[in-house]
Formats: sequence, structure tokens, C-alpha cells
Amino acid sequence: MIEDTWCKGCGICAAFCPRQVLEIHHGKVRAVAPEKCVSCGMCELRCPDYAIYLVNLEE
Ligand code: SF4
Ligand code: SF4
Repeated sequence: MIEDTWCKGCGICAAFCPRQVLEIHHGKVRAVAPEKCVSCGMCELRCPDYAIYLVNLEE
């Protein structure tokens, strides 16, 4: 789950994702390959703005 309002597009989550699930588009993060997500929680752990958290990346 991505909270667009809080995301500042810093790219930290994308950099820490071990499966290249996330990319930055127009200053916001997008789950470009949700099927590759292994629910490791790194994105949630590393986001400084609590803008991304695990639920179901397919939304
Ligand atoms: S939970 Fe999914 S999207 Fe987040 S860092 Fe892990 S593999 Fe990537
Ligand atoms: S780490 Fe958080 S604020 Fe930065 S791009 Fe990812 S979701 Fe957005």
C-alpha cells in the first residue's frame, strides 16, 4: 500500500527493495512489479515518511 500524499519520491524504498518491485514516477513511488514482491518489509522499514506499508501491493 502506497500513501501518495506522504510519499516525497525520495526513492529510498526502491533502492532497498531486493526485488525491483518499486520505481519512482513523477515524484511518487509506484509498484511496477507487485508480483515480484516477497513481502520482506524493507520498503516499509526504510521509508522515512511512513508512506509505504505492507498490505497487498496489488491494491
Ligand atoms: S516488501 Fe516487497 S516492495 Fe517492499 S522491499 Fe520487500 S519485495 Fe520490495
Ligand atoms: S521511501 Fe517513502 S517517501 Fe521515499 S519514495 Fe519510498 S514511499 Fe516515497
